[in-house]
Amino acid sequence: MRKPVIFCDFDGTVTKKDNIISIMKQFAPPEWEKWKDGVLSQSVSIQEGVGNMFALLPSSLRKDIVEYVVNTAQIREGFGEFAQYTKSQGIPLYIVSGGIDFFVKPMLEPFDSIAGLYCNEADFSGENIHIRWPHGCDQECPNQNCGCCKPAIIRHTANSNMYSVVIGDSVTDLQAAKIADSVIARDYLLEKCKELSIPFQSFETFYDCIEILEKLKVNIK
Ligand code: MG
Ligand code: ZN
Repeated sequence: MRKPVIFCDFDGTVTKKDNIISIMKQFAPPEWEKWKDGVLSQSVSIQEGVGNMFALLPSSLRKDIVEYVVNTAQIREGFGEFAQYTKSQGIPLYIVSGGIDFFVKPMLEPFDSIAGLYCNEADFSGENIHIRWPHGCDQECPNQNCGCCKPAIIRHTANSNMYSVVIGDSVTDLQAAKIADSVIARDYLLEKCKELSIPFQSFETFYDCIEILEKLKVNIK
């Protein structure tokens, strides 16, 4: 029997809203919207858009930003129970996120049963925040501009003895969903899976995800 391993998105999946957007709304000068619109319309890459948004913020804001996100972001119902469940079942739970380490890590701190975190990184040594991209695309990724490349992370973490489960909500999870053995989706990712005939199960809370995994467990060969 193959061993399940979970690759779970963060923004819009573990948290209810996108944290980069809420940070920019709270702290950035209005120019950030031009970069956001560029990313959404795909006229600028994720690296360029997100990099330029954070470059609008002084490094001195670090503590304020972390406090703001930790205090205001809502974690989706059942995530704590879900993390516990995966641990008790011996299923590794990896968080794969297009977010940035300095705010994702503190938000995940209460959940000590996570196997690993892959995300982008912030450098505060300069006047303004500089974003680094340690998990770029591999040669097999059709996008070649993911920022944090989820399919590449799956390819180098999972092997043929594993059964990969992707949980996500948006376009940045699509290439990962295409190569996963099983997809748990909501929102835009769910619509995209329907459109492209990628098999998926839908979720709204992480209690749903526990139920889905319980059923899956029986069927994995
Ligand atoms: Mg997301
Ligand atoms: Zn990629």
